[in-house]
Amino acid sequence: MIENNKQIDASDQPGKPPGSEVIAPDRQMGCLRRAVEDNLSRKIQAMLNSCVNCGLCAESCHYYCSTGDSEVIPANKAAKLARVLDTHFHPVKARLPFFRPAEQLDEQTIAALHKAAYEDCTLCAKCALTCPMGINTGEILSLARAMLCSIGHLPSGLVHPVETAFEVGNYLGLTTEDFVENIEWIAEELADEIEDESFTIPIDKPNAELLYIPHPLEARDLPFLLMYALKILHAAGEDYTVSSYDFDTVNYAYYQGSKANMMRIAQRVLDAREKLQAKSIGLAPCGHGYRVLRWEVEKYLGKRLDFPPVKSIVELIEGYLRQGRIRVEKDKFEGPITYHDPCNIARRGGIIEAPRNVLNAVTSNLVEMHPNRARNFCCGGGGGLASSGDFGKIRVTAGRKKAEQIRETGARIVATNCFNCMTQIRDLSKEYDLGIEVKSIVELVSESLIMQAGS
Ligand code: SF4
Ligand code: SF4
Repeated sequence: MIENNKQIDASDQPGKPPGSEVIAPDRQMGCLRRAVEDNLSRKIQAMLNSCVNCGLCAESCHYYCSTGDSEVIPANKAAKLARVLDTHFHPVKARLPFFRPAEQLDEQTIAALHKAAYEDCTLCAKCALTCPMGINTGEILSLARAMLCSIGHLPSGLVHPVETAFEVGNYLGLTTEDFVENIEWIAEELADEIEDESFTIPIDKPNAELLYIPHPLEARDLPFLLMYALKILHAAGEDYTVSSYDFDTVNYAYYQGSKANMMRIAQRVLDAREKLQAKSIGLAPCGHGYRVLRWEVEKYLGKRLDFPPVKSIVELIEGYLRQGRIRVEKDKFEGPITYHDPCNIARRGGIIEAPRNVLNAVTSNLVEMHPNRARNFCCGGGGGLASSGDFGKIRVTAGRKKAEQIRETGARIVATNCFNCMTQIRDLSKEYDLGIEVKSIVELVSESLIMQAGS
């Protein structure tokens, strides 16, 4: 359902992305007011007014579970924004003749809001499942992010990637020439590996069944990860292509809180499909990239996209296994293996059983964390924290709960389906001496593939 979300013309945003420049104090209130008008939905208003202070949300938030600090209890973080809205932007009070809002937000208030929204919440939405009133503090704090973005008060790690995506078309600044060159190199390597000289990776093939959007980090620095995915697509006999116009699943504008920036980056993926007339879109393992393209884009456009819902690679793999298009050797990796549900893939994305079906095909020793599935704890790397060098200490501190969950499984391998989660869990393994390997579910499948003649 679309309610209260203003529709955005993503093509009408020339130049630097909003949020890149710090707004002078005397102009801040106007920007903040517009951000409130554009982003304060009835749903958020209702949530802000529904808290009964029961405190149940505390135990669902990995920040509180890891630190015991009452400051980071979800209700207390949401209260910071509620106070600002009440004193400066109250929709009813602001119309009263005797209401005199402060001229501007003081620096201390802005800093407190920044900490609550960008540092102390990963937008994981676990609190919403616990709260008897259904309050999603992450959604509430997204409004705080939108406000802070409107005055250029962003974490540095969320500025440059979005600017680069605007300028070059992907957050790493990889040129089309470099991407194509890397893909051709990957094709040669894969041809050697599968002993098929005729093997190629289709680039810009029109009318394919599937447009596969990789993570640009794979294309630039971690080609073996892209190889795993492409080997699976090839083995399944998928009619796919990659695009030289867009090769970026990532959308850090979503974490900025700017819908306009998010839509402009997402639009490039949609345009790539349109240009090639591909039937559908498949995405590399990326939690927030999936969240944006599967759910947020339709929500903010206010309409269904006119092609089948985008799929994460893990859903594609599950389909191939179910249809007998690929076969895998079981237990090539010594277990036990556990699966970390990325928040944007499971709780906020709806992909819950597919990864388990895939993992049960490659291992007879899948062990679950507790809680798991939609109720799994965030690893601490979401919300843009893993993408920003500034937040390393906060991430690993808030990730202690996840580290405990992992240790309790006794797993040797943690599989997941998101780049940021992999980065974060590797950091947790170092910090808490977990002695685990962190692997993409795509790697586990690709390395277990039984290549058939002709595939
Ligand atoms: S959305 Fe997640 S990180 Fe944010 S307050 Fe709720 S449980 Fe904590
Ligand atoms: S669980 Fe919900 S109602 Fe209870 S304190 Fe937290 S946000 Fe408020």
